[in-house]
Amino acid sequence: MTIQEMRQAVCDWSKQSYAEKLFAGTSGNLSVYDKEQDVMVITPTSVPYETITPEDMVVLRLDGEILEGNYRPSSEWRMHAAVYQAKPEVSAIIHTHSPYATAFAVNNRGIPTILIEMVPFLGGDVPLAKFAVPGTRAVGDEAVKVLAERTGCLLANHGVLAIGASLEQAHIRAVYIEDAAKICSIAMANGPIVTMSEADIAAMKHG
Ligand SMILES: [Zn+2]
Repeated sequence: MTIQEMRQAVCDWSKQSYAEKLFAGTSGNLSVYDKEQDVMVITPTSVPYETITPEDMVVLRLDGEILEGNYRPSSEWRMHAAVYQAKPEVSAIIHTHSPYATAFAVNNRGIPTILIEMVPFLGGDVPLAKFAVPGTRAVGDEAVKVLAERTGCLLANHGVLAIGASLEQAHIRAVYIEDAAKICSIAMANGPIVTMSEADIAAMKHG
């Protein structure tokens, strides 16, 4: 991917995610990372998604050195950098505040494995990462701790993090996290929920 293609992808998926209400206002942030070039392209801080353009994206290195950009990078760029450094297979990250999933993060509980889609798309349940001060690298470090064999997690009292080899992949995972949280909330209101058994999860993974 060229840097221009990276700018375009981050712009397109941020507009789509905003339209889907995965985040409100100017919250949420998305990035892609090219390991070969050591270049991350991330959404800028405080630019409305309705009017955002590929040129508004910020191009930087994982140590924070800005290469190109008219705006400051998302205040959570350190979280993105920490995940890219710890997980070399990851090339795209989306961070949302999608309401049903973030409600679980406010309850300080993960989302149990209640739906079949969670197995192929998310690796199983959606774990909860411990709270860390927004804007610090610790947000990413805590997420990495729970992301082994998972493609998304909740950030305590904050939101959702989904990872992937592309933004398309990270985005669909963020969508499934919100979907699982929504269905789980409705099911819990109906009565006790039944989570999938370890045997059924294993059969789906390996069967
Ligand atoms: Zn956030």
